[in-house]
Amino acid sequence: MEYETVIGLEVHSELNTATKCFCGCKNEFGAPVNTNCCPICIALPGALPIVNSEAVKKAILMGLAVGCKISNYSVFERKNYFYPDLAKAYQISQAEYPLCIGGGVEIDIDGGKKYIRLNHIHLEEDAAKLIHTKGETLVDYNRGGVPLIEMVSEPDMNSADEAVAFLEKLRTTLLYAGVSDCKMQEGSIKCDVNVSVHQKGKPLGTRVELKNLNSFRAVHRAIEYESSRQIEELEKGGKIFQETRRWDDERGISYAMRSKEDSQDYRYFPDPDIVPISVSEEYIASIKRELPRLAEQRKTEYLQLGLTESDADLLTAQRDYADFFEGVLKEFNEPKFVCNWITAEVFKKLNTLDVEERTIPLEPKALATMLKLYKTGEINQAGARKIFDELWENGGDPVQLVDSLGLKQMNDSGALEKVLANIIETNPKAVQEYRDGNEKIMAFFVGQAMKATSGKANPKLVAEIVKKLIK
Ligand code: ADP
Ligand code: MG
Ligand code: ZN
Repeated sequence: MEYETVIGLEVHSELNTATKCFCGCKNEFGAPVNTNCCPICIALPGALPIVNSEAVKKAILMGLAVGCKISNYSVFERKNYFYPDLAKAYQISQAEYPLCIGGGVEIDIDGGKKYIRLNHIHLEEDAAKLIHTKGETLVDYNRGGVPLIEMVSEPDMNSADEAVAFLEKLRTTLLYAGVSDCKMQEGSIKCDVNVSVHQKGKPLGTRVELKNLNSFRAVHRAIEYESSRQIEELEKGGKIFQETRRWDDERGISYAMRSKEDSQDYRYFPDPDIVPISVSEEYIASIKRELPRLAEQRKTEYLQLGLTESDADLLTAQRDYADFFEGVLKEFNEPKFVCNWITAEVFKKLNTLDVEERTIPLEPKALATMLKLYKTGEINQAGARKIFDELWENGGDPVQLVDSLGLKQMNDSGALEKVLANIIETNPKAVQEYRDGNEKIMAFFVGQAMKATSGKANPKLVAEIVKKLIK
């Protein structure tokens, strides 16, 4: 039988606000344990939450970035459950009236495009961090109360590749919108994955929720594993139970954690300590004006600068690439020239980095200065590459590097003539070949000239002089 896999994602992302969602404690990663806490976020009796307007605003920014309808009326509810990471025994979340409704993103898949719908985005607080050590569990409340948005997709994805493309798209958009740092290793973006299988055209199958997915790679593997497991089970005549399963990345398997709770188990009800949020159309319009330029918009602008479609795609694949490109242009406005160097040399180096998140370790200004020196002929390509390597590894000032590395290009035609006269004299065979019409032999002369000048000769000038001398 032919099965289709159906996937829906619930993606959580911590917002990069200065303070927590309902108190004034700092929202920062990596502080000493239990130092960013107060009576509100450790739930001392009588402490009252106050909504952080910056968190509301950032949630709306993200909603606008993915085409949601922003609710004019939105309510915080209590999601009740007992677990030590939750001091109040409920999480302040949203259920009935979330901040953003609908929307979606387009993903690139198999050379085509596919639109993945979002059901909604809501704002909630993160739970504290549990640290399991031998025989005991410790609680760090620094993370408790940090604002999170949960972006819930419709079950529109049909493969592990689509799910990862969707996650990547959300991540890029969060970064472009400037609302989250999206550091997977710091847990600032996480997701739960719902997987079911069914026969095409038939109603959707029973879904299983997967947890403990700590990288996009784990998401991919877990989906493939889970969909095969379900198909095997059904083929055996078995049944799929609605349950929550935990992914074990080391062993590459999932196992049942608990039967899936229904939303009624949480006994959601409006939090009586927090008044509903009313968001006016004027306020939404003002936030819209603050929305940073997103990938699509920047791509359009790059095309107008004369870049090709594929170059514009490469540069806008991550916000920091686009920012870097624009940073270089600010100092040296040669879009095509700058783009070529970034897509060839910078990306080549990035590809050698063995990390999930690749960041450019260069100052845009330094690259601009180096490219200017190259473009104006102060240094040649070999010199440009040497300076680039040095900037990448150790930083520094390109102008000083030209001196300290002795890379100033030889543009002195008198001196070059002397060098070339000697080369021509000692290579009569090559000279003859050139006279016989073999233009390719010019590369030989340029190579020899480079050797004789430790790579500093201006190759264009060398070619001109060789032609003149051989004539
Ligand atoms: P809950 O609130 O209980 O987690 P929701 O109805 O809000 O349930 O759905 C949560 C996620 O599960 C959504 O991302 C949705 O797309 C996904 N989902 C719902 N039904 C299925 C299904 N049959 N197969 C796969 N994913 C599904
Ligand atoms: Mg859910
Ligand atoms: Zn606090």
